[in-house]
Amino acid sequence: MKPHLWRFNGGLKLDGHKSMSMHEPVVEAGIPPHLVLPLQQHIGSPAEPIVKVGDTVLKNQMIAQASDYVSVPVHAPSSGKVVAIEEHVVPHPSGIKATCIIIETDGNDTSIEIDNTPVDYLNLEPSALRNIIREAGVVGLGGAGFPSFIKLNPGPDTKVETLILNGAECEPYITCDAMLMQDAPRKILDGLLIMRHALKAEQCIIAIEDNKATAHTMLVNALHKHESDFIKIIQIPTIYPAGGEKQLIKVVTGKEVPTHGLPVNIGVVCHNIATAAAIADAIHERQPLIERYITITGYGIKHPRNLKVRFGTPIEFLIQQSEPLNIQQCIMGGSMMGFELQDQTIPVIKTTNCILTKNHKYKAPAAMPCIRCGECVKVCPAQLLPQQLYWYARAKDFDKTQDYNLFDCIECGCCAYVCPSHIPLVQYYRFAKTEIWAQERDKQKSDAARERHEFRLFRLERKKAEDEERKRRKKELLKATAGDASAEEDKKKTAIEAAMARVKAKREQQNAHAANIDNLTDAQKKAIEEVEQRRIAARQKKQAAVKNKETSTS
Ligand code: SF4
Ligand code: SF4
Repeated sequence: MKPHLWRFNGGLKLDGHKSMSMHEPVVEAGIPPHLVLPLQQHIGSPAEPIVKVGDTVLKNQMIAQASDYVSVPVHAPSSGKVVAIEEHVVPHPSGIKATCIIIETDGNDTSIEIDNTPVDYLNLEPSALRNIIREAGVVGLGGAGFPSFIKLNPGPDTKVETLILNGAECEPYITCDAMLMQDAPRKILDGLLIMRHALKAEQCIIAIEDNKATAHTMLVNALHKHESDFIKIIQIPTIYPAGGEKQLIKVVTGKEVPTHGLPVNIGVVCHNIATAAAIADAIHERQPLIERYITITGYGIKHPRNLKVRFGTPIEFLIQQSEPLNIQQCIMGGSMMGFELQDQTIPVIKTTNCILTKNHKYKAPAAMPCIRCGECVKVCPAQLLPQQLYWYARAKDFDKTQDYNLFDCIECGCCAYVCPSHIPLVQYYRFAKTEIWAQERDKQKSDAARERHEFRLFRLERKKAEDEERKRRKKELLKATAGDASAEEDKKKTAIEAAMARVKAKREQQNAHAANIDNLTDAQKKAIEEVEQRRIAARQKKQAAVKNKETSTS
C-alpha cells in the first residue's frame, strides 16, 4: 500500500544531473601526501589537539578531543607524522582560515589496534551508546555536521514517535548518498536500529526520492521481514528541496516544525542515511569516522564518479585523480546550495558531500530592481516572504529581517533561481545572518565587559564598606578600653578615700577616749591603770613563753 504523503510549500523541479556520477562503482581515493584536518568539522566548539608537532600518529588514533558538550573528537585518517598545527584555509563560503592538524602520511596506513568485538547495544543504556558514538566522532553527514549523539538524546520526558532517515538527496549533481544506499543498505538499516534503540522511537521511515529506484530496491531487499513491522521504506516525489529537514518531515508526517522549534518538539527526529552507516561502523566495528563517500562531478573533469575519501584530503588530490579538463569554477556542495572554492588546497571534511567542477565560469546577469512579481514567494519552501527579507537585508534593518523569520530560511536558493530580476537573494540573506551573528557576538562581548566593569565597581564599593566598618570597630574598641581605665582609677580613688576616712574616724575615737579619761575620778583612773598593767603583764608573759619555746626547738 502506498503511504500517504503530504506536500511542502513551493519547491522546484530541477534537472538532477545525477546519472553523470553514477556509472562507476565507488573506489578509494587513496592516501594523499598530506592530510589537513580542521579541528572544527562540526557545529559546536572546535576539538582540542592531543598531539603535538613531531608526534607519530596511527590511523584511527584520536588526535583531537571534544572540548565541550557540543563537540566531537577528530581521528587520524592514516598513519604518519604531525608536521604542523596551524591556520589553514578551510571549507567555508568566506574562505576563512582555521586551526588544522597537518599530517605527513607515511603510506603504510598502519592502524591502532581496534577491539572490534561488536557492542551488544540492545543491552546497553542509551547514554553509553551515545558515548561510543561521540567518541567515534560521528556528526550529521547530510551537511549540517551537528554532533549525532546530541540528536540521539531527546531528553527523559520527550517521546519520539517517528525516526526519519533522510535519503532524499535532493540537490542536483550529488549522488554520494544514493551510491551508499546501493552499496551498503544493510549497514544503513543496522545504524537505523541502533538509533531506534537510543531514541526509543516507535516507528522508523526511510525516505528516498523517487529518482533513486535502485537505492530504494536495495534497501527494501536488505530489510529483514520482522523489521518491516516498524521500518517503512518509502519513495517521495523528486521536488527540490525535499531533503530539507523541515520539508521532509512535512512530506512524511504532515507535521510542521514550529518556527524557533526543533523536530523533536513534534515527536520527530531526522538523521541522514550516511550518518546511520557511520553509527553502525562505530557500534559494530568500533570504527571512528575518518572517511566518507563524496561525489566529484561536473563538466570540469573527465571522470565524474563517487570516491571514498579520507577526511583531510585536499580537493586538488581528488581533482587530479579525476582527469581535470578546463576547470573554470569549483564548487563545494551542489549547484543550488554549494559555495565556490577559491583554493583547491582546501581539505575534505566530515560535512563535504560533493565537489562540482565547471568548465565555464557562471557570470550572473546584472541584478535589476525588484518588480514585486511574487515568484519568489510561490517557490519558498519555508513559506517566507523572500522579497521582504531582501528589502530589509538590503536596508540593514536586521530587526525586521528577524521579524520576517530570516532564520527559517534554509538558503535553498529557490527564490533566487526564479527571480526575473536576477537578484542574488540568498547572498543578502547570508549577509544579514552573518551581520546578526556578528552583532550578537559583539553584544555578548560588550555584555561580558559591562558585567566585568559592574563587578569591579561592586568590589570597590564592598572594600570601601569593609574598611569603614573596620575603622568603626577599632574606634569603638579604643573607646571601650579608655572607659575601663578610668573606672579602675575611680575604684582606687574611692578605696584611698575610704581608708583615709577610717584613719580619721579612729583618730577621733582615740581623742574622745582620752577626753573621757580626763573626766574620770581618781579611783576610776586607778582601776583603769591596773587593768592596763595586767594586760601588759599578760602580754609580756605570753611573749616570753613563745621565746622559750623557740629556744628549746633550736
Ligand atoms: S522574484 Fe525577484 S523580482 Fe519578483 S518579487 Fe521576488 S525578489 Fe522581487
Ligand atoms: S533561500 Fe530562503 S527565502 Fe529563498 S526560497 Fe529558500 S528558504 Fe525561501
